[in-house]
Amino acid sequence: NVAGICNRPRQLTGGAFCWTKPEPRKRYEYLSTSPAALRDLGLAASEANSPEFHQIVSGESVVDADGVYPYAQAYAGWQFGQFAGQLGDGRVVNLFEIDTSSGRYEIQLKGAGKTPFLRFADGKAVLRSSVREYVISEALHAIGIPTTRALALTYLPETYAQRSHAEKCAIVARFAPSWIRFGTFDLYRYRGDRQGLRQLSDYVIAEVFHNTLPAFSEYTEDLGAFTTYEKMYLEIVSRNAVSVGYWQCYGFLNGVLNTDNTSVLGLAMDFGPFAIMDKFQPDYTPNHDDSSLRYGYRNTPDSIMWNCVRLGEDLAEFIGAGPLLQDERFMEKGITADQEDMVVKRATKVIEIAQKVFQEKFLATYDTLMGNRLGLKLIATDRDELFTPLLNWLEKSETDYNGCFTKLQGYADLSSSPTDNTFVETLIPKSLDFTYAKFTKKELTKEIHAWLKLYRERLAKQGVSDAARVKLAATANPHFLPRSWILDEVVEYMESNNCSDTSHLETLMKMALHPYDKEKWTGEGIDKKLVQRWMEE
Ligand code: AMP
Ligand code: MG
Ligand code: MG
Repeated sequence: NVAGICNRPRQLTGGAFCWTKPEPRKRYEYLSTSPAALRDLGLAASEANSPEFHQIVSGESVVDADGVYPYAQAYAGWQFGQFAGQLGDGRVVNLFEIDTSSGRYEIQLKGAGKTPFLRFADGKAVLRSSVREYVISEALHAIGIPTTRALALTYLPETYAQRSHAEKCAIVARFAPSWIRFGTFDLYRYRGDRQGLRQLSDYVIAEVFHNTLPAFSEYTEDLGAFTTYEKMYLEIVSRNAVSVGYWQCYGFLNGVLNTDNTSVLGLAMDFGPFAIMDKFQPDYTPNHDDSSLRYGYRNTPDSIMWNCVRLGEDLAEFIGAGPLLQDERFMEKGITADQEDMVVKRATKVIEIAQKVFQEKFLATYDTLMGNRLGLKLIATDRDELFTPLLNWLEKSETDYNGCFTKLQGYADLSSSPTDNTFVETLIPKSLDFTYAKFTKKELTKEIHAWLKLYRERLAKQGVSDAARVKLAATANPHFLPRSWILDEVVEYMESNNCSDTSHLETLMKMALHPYDKEKWTGEGIDKKLVQRWMEE
C-alpha cells in the first residue's frame, strides 16, 4: 500500500533479502524501552522519552538518511526434522545498523507487517508474544545467557490479528550483531547455489566473525590445519554448544529449535512458546505441538547438534575442500567426479569433529555453570558424583529447579549445621503426592540428606567456606526469572486495560534487567507488592 513497495509473496531465485518497509498502521502507542539496551547501543537514556525515537522503534517513520534502506531477510529451514523450503522473514523488517564501542548491531522490527516472504501469514505479531519476547530477550541477557536483544515495545491499538479470536497486536524493536540463521545457509543449499553459499560464508567470516576465528588446532587430527570455512563451521557449532550449556543449566527452553531459529552466533532467538522450566522434568516441553518432545529439555542438546549436522551438509563442499580451496577451477565450478570421494571424506570427518567439539564445549559450559550455582570450584568428577544425584532427587521431589539453587545458596550455615531436617522440609513441596510414587517420603528425605552430606563433604574437601560458596553462587543464581505465570499475569493485565497501565511491565523489566541485584528493584512506578510476589526466594 506504500507507493513503490510491493510485498507480493515471492520465492527468491537468488540472494537472501528484499527491500521492504514497515506496513503503516492506524495507530501506534509507545509502551516501553529497555534502558540496558539503550546503553548498550550507545544511545542516551533520554531517547526513551523522545517522540522521534518512538516513531522509529514502532516503524511509524523510517529514518531518512543515506544508506538506510529497510529490508526483509530470507531464509529456509528444517522444521521438526522436515525440510520446509523458503520460510521468512515473514513479519520482520530490518531498519539499519548501529556502530557501538562493543561492535555493530542490526536493528529490526518484529510484527512490522507483511514482507515478500510471509507465505500465507499476516505479518503481525500479537501483544502477548511481543511482551514475552521483549522481556525474555533482556532477561536472558542480564542473566548472562547469549541472546538477541530487545530495545522497545509498541502497542498497535487498532491492529488486530485473527488467531483463534481477534488478538491485539504489537511491535518489538530488537537487535543483534547478526540475524543470520542456519536457515540462511539452508536457503542457498536448497537452491543449489554454491556461489551463494560461498558468498554467504565469506560474509559470515568477515562481517559476523570479523576474520577472527579460533584455529581449533587441538581437533585437527590428521586433517592438517583447518581451512577458514572449516573454522567458521566449528566456531558456529562451538558457540551453539556453549549456549545450550547455559540453557540446560538454567532450564531455559526455546520450544521451537528449527534451523530457522538457530543463530550462527548461538544466540537464543525468535521467542515463541519458550519457558523457564519450573520443576525439574527432563521430558518438559513448553511447546504443546511438540508431541515427540524433540525440543523438550532432555532432547535440546541433540536437537541443536542435529541442526549443526544439517549446517555441515549445507557447507559440505567447502568444509570438505581442504587444499582445493586454492584451486581456481574448484572455486568457480566445484568438484570434478574424481575429487568427490576426497571431498566427501574430509567433510564427513569435519562434521564428526564438530560433534566432538559440540559435546566438549556443551559439557564444559554446563559443568562450570552448575559448579558456580553450587558455589564450588569444579572438579572433573562433579558431574557424575554430585550433579547427577542432585538431578535424580530433584526429579522425584518435584522441587522447583532454579529455586533449589537459590535455597541452597540461602542455607548460610550449611557446613556447620548438625542436621538438615528443617532445610530438607523446605525443599519438598507441600503439594507433593506420594500416593502413586515409587518411593515413600521417608526414602526421598533420606536421599536428599545423603546428597547434602555429599555436597558438604565435597565443599570441605576443597576448603570452600560457607561465605565463599554463597559469594560464588550469588553470581550465578538470579533472584528473578521471568516464569511463564508471571509473564501471563503481566500480559493479561495489559490486555485488560488496553496497555493504558504499564506499571506491571515496568516492574517486571526492572527485575529482569537486574536479576542479581535486588537493591535495584525500586524507584518510580515500581510495584512493591508485585516485586514481593515475583522474586525467587
Ligand atoms: P516460526 O514457526 O514461528 O519459527 O515461524 C516460521 C516462519 O514463519 C518465520 O520465518 C516467520 O517469519 C514466519 N511467520 C510466523 N508468523 C508470521 C506472521 N504472523 N506473519 C508473517 N510471517 C510469519
Ligand atoms: Mg523464527
Ligand atoms: Mg516465530
